[in-house]
Amino acid sequence: MGRNLVEIIRQMGMTDPRLLAAVAATPREHFVPPRSAGRAEQDTPIPIGHGQPTSQPSLVAQMIDALMLTDEDTVLEIGTGYGYQTALLAHLADRVYSVERYADLAEHARANLAAVGVTNAEVVVGDGTAGLPEHAPFDAVVVSAAAAAVPAPLIEQLVEGGRLVMPIAAGVADIVTLYAKRHGRLEQQRTVTPAQFVPLVGKHA
Ligand code: SAH
Repeated sequence: MGRNLVEIIRQMGMTDPRLLAAVAATPREHFVPPRSAGRAEQDTPIPIGHGQPTSQPSLVAQMIDALMLTDEDTVLEIGTGYGYQTALLAHLADRVYSVERYADLAEHARANLAAVGVTNAEVVVGDGTAGLPEHAPFDAVVVSAAAAAVPAPLIEQLVEGGRLVMPIAAGVADIVTLYAKRHGRLEQQRTVTPAQFVPLVGKHA
């Protein structure tokens, strides 16, 4: 039940008990294709179809850790994949809206979330670069695919003081970057880690 991953994440220096509890409570074997279930507890990306991976769990944890979520937050996630990150967010926040461009991946994610008892996350099929204006504003936004800049609609739909984490494409690597919204604009807080993400594909990317 996510214990190996908890140990890995703890050893990387993430000590927030709420985050560790969320990882412990989220069996990753439910969030990978059945043929890969045997290596779900390894801290590696795993292919989920359409040339997309489900991200490395420790990278997901680092991005979520940066957001410092409370159980009153409403979160927008772009790039649901198989829903692993969605499940962790759902443990830490009040409500999660997640957008995935591939309908079959979204369908898998819904089933996976239901299988582990997550009821406060909604998966929507569409272009996440437009955000979800009908559910805005969001206290936090996490983007799981890389682009050169943060899509403008996501900035608009973030509350003043809200946090956004996203990999910014920078040549060889992507740089996962944490921002906060101040005076209507994004201010960079810090870089979280370099990583490799799939490209964010959409109108505002
Ligand atoms: N958060 C996932 C990461 C999946 S990989 C996890 O926990 O593993 C990134 C995902 O982003 C892919 O499923 C891809 O289809 C999706 N994606 C890319 N561009 C998108 C867009 N504009 N809107 C919604 N989803 C997008």
